[in-house]
Amino acid sequence: MELDRYGQLKPRGPKAWLRSRDSGFSRICPFSPTARDEDDLAVEHFPSAKDRHPLLGRFEAAYVGHVAEDEYRVNGSSGGMVTWVAAELLRRGLVDGVAHVKESDDPQTEGRLFHYTLSRDLQALQAGAKSRYYPVELSGVLRSMRDIPGRYAVVGIPCFVKAVRLACADDPVLKERVAFTLGLFCGHMKSARMAESFAWQMEEDISRVRQLDYRVKTPDRPANWYRAQLTLANGETRARDWWHLADGDWGAGFFQNSACNFCDDVVAETADIAFGDAWKEPYSSDGRGTNVVLVRSRMLLDLLREGMGANRIALSPVDADFVVATQAAGFRQRREGLSFRLAWPRLGLRPRKRVQASGHHLTSQRKMIYIMRYGISFWSHRVFLAARLLHSPGLYILWARAALAFYQGLAYSRGPVGRVARRLGLAGSEGGA
Ligand SMILES: Cc1cc2nc3c(=O)[nH]c(=O)nc-3n(C[C@H](O)[C@H](O)[C@H](O)COP(=O)(O)OP(=O)(O)OC[C@H]3O[C@@H](n4cnc5c(N)ncnc54)[C@H](O)[C@@H]3O)c2cc1C
Repeated sequence: MELDRYGQLKPRGPKAWLRSRDSGFSRICPFSPTARDEDDLAVEHFPSAKDRHPLLGRFEAAYVGHVAEDEYRVNGSSGGMVTWVAAELLRRGLVDGVAHVKESDDPQTEGRLFHYTLSRDLQALQAGAKSRYYPVELSGVLRSMRDIPGRYAVVGIPCFVKAVRLACADDPVLKERVAFTLGLFCGHMKSARMAESFAWQMEEDISRVRQLDYRVKTPDRPANWYRAQLTLANGETRARDWWHLADGDWGAGFFQNSACNFCDDVVAETADIAFGDAWKEPYSSDGRGTNVVLVRSRMLLDLLREGMGANRIALSPVDADFVVATQAAGFRQRREGLSFRLAWPRLGLRPRKRVQASGHHLTSQRKMIYIMRYGISFWSHRVFLAARLLHSPGLYILWARAALAFYQGLAYSRGPVGRVARRLGLAGSEGGA
């Protein structure tokens, strides 16, 4: 996997091998039309799950809450549950290491701000808390797991967990060693250029950035008011709210990886346990951060119940509708939106999805939102590249501000574009992305 000119990781190899339907690559690539799908993998791993849901897949129980002990919640992006569960696996000796994403020690030499690594003790694990919306890849940690006997847990967004499941099916050594998969709910993955753009807008060059915290926690503000913070080589910091960044509206799709246009798994349906943010009131207003948790493994369910019994974690049971409501925009984009995108004419490889191509029933506003989002993600990579080559950040920032005004006019009826769109019948009053 190598970073391309748009700052996205792409597989490299002979074209014939990448395209062959029978190659190992097409069996383990999570977007390959010949690979097994999420339903198929979930049946194999959770055959007798208590609940099944068309959007959430198979699961035993669902919860909302956070970690009550120590600093897990303060240090986590959300309620700190991912790090707590991973720590509990290490503490109980159920795993020897956890594969997750941490800051690079020396971003300039490595050419990346973040990478997958294996943490083998609590201190190393806890130092890797927080969400990284940055391209990463698994080859190094999978190689280490193959080389060093032991039991491992892997933390990943849905397509990564699926890739691990597919790789395990192809490799008995890996299958024996990957003991747990911890999924992160996912809206989409960003390119490395998003970090560069944030730096530009904070009047810094990415080469001076040592660390990036995508979500600095400020307990007295709503959890969904994201604030990004850069730490420079000299220790100084720069911070800005996402809402004040030209490309900081997550729903607009800036720098989205193109594969995410063809994903239908929001909640890591193949993971033993999956975690998201509780994007629903009163939780979204609680700046301390709150998780939603979907448990699929009975063993992990027992582990959570013990934690709740000892008041180490504070979780309350919720139903499927609650979990779906926390991810409403993600599900719209990956079901209704995906169905619409699949109906577009397309050359080359045709994705095989669990959603049927359609879109005739959608309102003009919804169609326009999906088209704009697709256009913004496509063009953001290219306009940024042009601005980078011309050493002209203003070119990209101007374009991004204009694109955002159009998107928010359509999606939220905001500003002059919103007024025009309303008059043309393209923006309804319901709003929402
Ligand atoms: C690209 C991306 C998109 C997301 N989209 C959504 C969404 O639409 N809706 C939603 O509810 N939640 C989404 N999440 C998940 C959310 O941001 C939180 O990670 C989740 O709620 C867990 O929070 P926590 O406080 O329990 O985790 P923490 O205790 O902060 O631990 C997070 C763990 O995840 C690891 N990690 C961080 N980034 C990555 C990565 N890119 N790949 C693999 N492991 C990683 C860290 O190393 C750490 O071990 C997304 C996460 C990512 C990375």
